[in-house]
Amino acid sequence: MIQVRDLTKDYGSRRAINKLNFSISKGDVVGFLGPNGAGKSTTMKIITGFMAPSQGSASVAGFDVFESPLEVKKRIGYLPETPPVYGDMYVRDYLRYVAALKQVPKDKIEKSVDMAIEKTNLGEVQKRLIQHLSKGFKQRVGIAQAIVSDPEVLILDEPTVGLDPKQVAEIRDLIKSLKGQHTIILSTHILPEVEATCEKVIIINKGEIVAEDSIHNLATMEKGQSRLHIRVRKEVEDMKSLLGDIQQVLSVHLGTSHKEWNVDVQGGDEVVDAISSRLVTKGYGLLELSPSKVDLEDVFLKLTYGKQQGGGL
Ligand code: ADP
Repeated sequence: MIQVRDLTKDYGSRRAINKLNFSISKGDVVGFLGPNGAGKSTTMKIITGFMAPSQGSASVAGFDVFESPLEVKKRIGYLPETPPVYGDMYVRDYLRYVAALKQVPKDKIEKSVDMAIEKTNLGEVQKRLIQHLSKGFKQRVGIAQAIVSDPEVLILDEPTVGLDPKQVAEIRDLIKSLKGQHTIILSTHILPEVEATCEKVIIINKGEIVAEDSIHNLATMEKGQSRLHIRVRKEVEDMKSLLGDIQQVLSVHLGTSHKEWNVDVQGGDEVVDAISSRLVTKGYGLLELSPSKVDLEDVFLKLTYGKQQGGGL
């Protein structure tokens, strides 16, 4: 549905994105994740036809965004970082106006507006001025204008920024409810947003893609690596020296006390056996040794900032 090839954008001498390549299939819900300044908005603006790339190409539903911008815009609903809502318009009138702009046939406009209002739960405020709405409701109006033409592709740029926790939860539920009806790109710097709503993730850092995978694969991407959660009866003062000579031990992290540790290892049963026998023979009394999932947050931090949480070995 979306193809991006060698996409590059320079602002003067500053390269914002560098040779991005990715594709998104019909119906996918993809998180476009990266820290501030990574190049997310730049990429979204190019895909939606609001800005020209310096090099490379992007296409939506087979139409090149610059050769056929109207065909592309017809198929995309876009919620930019700052929603394009007009404060001095009434909610319903504004949505009618956007539907007409998006070339929804005249006799279908009222029905399309009803659909957008229903999906975004704006019924009670449809006759109010946009400027009198709370930030959460304004954001819903932003999403309503993106879906009013029932586009194949929905692009949401930082949809929950500046909202309070209740509004964040509501917008995330709204996005989830749109799954299956559109191909969705959710651009965000907030990892839990992606975990809550997306199946796939593209991670971008400093203008380059550093990972592209399903959330599940990414969380276990470091193949053969796992984290063991260890609980012992007696405090271990220095787990690092106790296990340091076992080759497959990569790093050791202190838990809530010296009786609880997390140990990152490379390998399978043999390293588990080596660690458990070491703890038992040294008389620490092993209470628990269980593998835990590699935390996606660790992977994200490592890919974007090049560091892992916790102290290393
Ligand atoms: P993100 O959306 O991930 O925060 P952006 O795409 O907004 O990242 O920005 C990527 C880089 O391009 C940043 O270094 C930013 O400062 C720079 N940038 C963005 N817009 C402009 C602009 N209009 N002029 C110059 N530099 C810009």
